[in-house]
Amino acid sequence: MIRIKTIDHLPLPARVFYRVDYNVPLEGARIADATRIEETLRTLRILREKGCPVVIASHLGRPKGERKAKYSLEPVRARLAELLSADVQWASDCIGDEARQKANSLLPGQVLLLENLRFHAGEEANDDAFAHELHELADVYVNDAFGACHRAHASIDALPRLFPSDRIAGGLLLAREIEFLQKVTNVTERPFVALLGGAKIAGKIEPLEALVRLADTVLIGGGMANTFVAAKGVAMGASLVDKGSIDVAGRILDGNARAEVVLPADFVVDNMLALDIGPRTESEYAAKIAGARIVFWNGPMGVFEKEAFAKGTMAVARAVAEADATTVVGGGESVEAVKSSGFADRITHISTGGGASLEFIAGEALPGVEVLRTGDQ
Ligand code: ADP
Ligand code: MG
Repeated sequence: MIRIKTIDHLPLPARVFYRVDYNVPLEGARIADATRIEETLRTLRILREKGCPVVIASHLGRPKGERKAKYSLEPVRARLAELLSADVQWASDCIGDEARQKANSLLPGQVLLLENLRFHAGEEANDDAFAHELHELADVYVNDAFGACHRAHASIDALPRLFPSDRIAGGLLLAREIEFLQKVTNVTERPFVALLGGAKIAGKIEPLEALVRLADTVLIGGGMANTFVAAKGVAMGASLVDKGSIDVAGRILDGNARAEVVLPADFVVDNMLALDIGPRTESEYAAKIAGARIVFWNGPMGVFEKEAFAKGTMAVARAVAEADATTVVGGGESVEAVKSSGFADRITHISTGGGASLEFIAGEALPGVEVLRTGDQ
């Protein structure tokens, strides 16, 4: 069991450096989806109720160490103020005199948002000098940026190491991610059904190999299924096939892993392209999911962005929602698909970090989690 330090162990009130993932989708300066901001409100409420001044830091997009207006966190500041019904102060640079001065003069319960961490190359370089500058802004460190925990970046890795070990913790969001992802990796109940789809196998090989060892059933869909079917020697027409992964797919099918690996029995085809799982597969997969006690789902079953090829993904989303099971969904497009299905509130846990959740499932150590670990059992 991985256990992380939680905010109840911090000497509060204290000035908090709160690392969040406000990497929200933007349409110009408009926030298309504020879920990532909303999800931090619980931790923020507790910190503010305890009388902590809170300095909030995040990345947004990939400005690559340069100040770029389109990656400014200013639009986030406005939305956060609205959601908190409170003033959110602003520092136009995450380090330097302005940030230090504003952080120092915060009163209990007041909030300061720093400009994008990635405007400094030191963030992604896990630079010590940059981490020292951030360290000057607060007395305790709280991390809720699960989606960034698989990256050894300064605000995730170097910075918490500068604090005494009783002054760092994971926030409520991070604690919940660890709790539910461990229900998956520790397989607390069976049957455990894993559902994997999405565009390609590449990039998902390690989690896939981990899941065929852990789960009882692995249901494959999406573009990923095409590659498995091709590995069995079936011609897939012009469909998306990840040629570099045919060998791995074949090995997974031939291997003596624990899980039964199930491939689609039929597809929805358009112009020689397999773009969704077919109706027989839908009902077969739904039946497997209905019998599960744990479900982990990553990757849509088809090109759900187009209505004509969304049916398989929606059918599976319904089955996951209706299952009498602990259900965990992770992955950028998977989460989007579940939200558009209308079943999101019937999923036990929707992971906020696509890449991070897959690395966690694959058994990899996430730097941002490792640094917060306490004596594990
Ligand atoms: P996630 O973001 O949930 O991890 P991926 O990024 O791996 O998922 O894949 C999502 C994409 O896969 C979607 O945009 C979807 O259109 C695409 N996709 C799913 N099935 C197919 C298919 N059969 N052919 C081509 N693309 C597909
Ligand atoms: Mg994706």
